[in-house]
Amino acid sequence: MGERGILTVVSGFSGSGKGTIMKELLKKYPGQYALSISATTRDPRPGEENGREYFFKTTEEFEQMIAEDALIEYAQYVNHYYGTPREYVESQLSAGKDVILEIEIQGALKVKERYPDTVLMFISPPGAEELKKRLVGRGTETMDVIDARLSRAVEESLGIENYDYFVINDVLENCVEEVHSIIQNEHSRVSRNINLINQIREELKGFSEGE
Ligand code: ADP
Ligand code: 5GP
Repeated sequence: MGERGILTVVSGFSGSGKGTIMKELLKKYPGQYALSISATTRDPRPGEENGREYFFKTTEEFEQMIAEDALIEYAQYVNHYYGTPREYVESQLSAGKDVILEIEIQGALKVKERYPDTVLMFISPPGAEELKKRLVGRGTETMDVIDARLSRAVEESLGIENYDYFVINDVLENCVEEVHSIIQNEHSRVSRNINLINQIREELKGFSEGE
């Protein structure tokens, strides 16, 4: 059986560029990564499509998914539910794909509890002013919602020490490369290669028995 894929959670303040980074990563390394599509009760932004950025659900539908244990984790973020469907993540990991969840911090911690070998990565812009500039520049939220997201960012910043990696998104291209190399380096961890290590041990034993 092939090696199981690596599960990575990418979090970061709203507007830090997570969505943009993920899009570039998938484009640059086609077939290597599987990006989980979350369910949410928030409204689609202009240009977002059901089943592409999110599965857009009513509150009733979302609560039904919770009841059926169809989500690995879910959380509330600025008045809406967001959650990760289980089936896709588990099947892609088994198929050896490196799976990425782009989710907020409460969800990230729940995933780490459930799958302790998860890589937790936090993406940040180079500074707070730049964050506000990107959020305003994106032009998809009202000033009220932007303010709510910025105050949520203060809380989120207090949780960064729970993560394994802190990656600055300044020059987009460099950031995409950094994310890719962190995940790929994880494949070399001893704890992720126990089967192969045991196999080589057995093979080596074969030599000494033959002497
Ligand atoms: P998130 O998914 O984290 O909320 P987005 O990917 O929507 O953030 O990015 C927020 C805004 O910042 C978008 O308008 C995007 O084009 C812009 N952006 C993303 N990365 C960079 C970067 N490295 N430099 C400048 N602007 C960026
Ligand atoms: P947005 O509305 O900007 O798309 O997402 C808002 C926040 O919800 C972001 O921090 C995003 O990472 C997070 N999020 C998206 N999907 C999920 C999910 O399935 N679970 C959790 N816990 N957070 C999510």
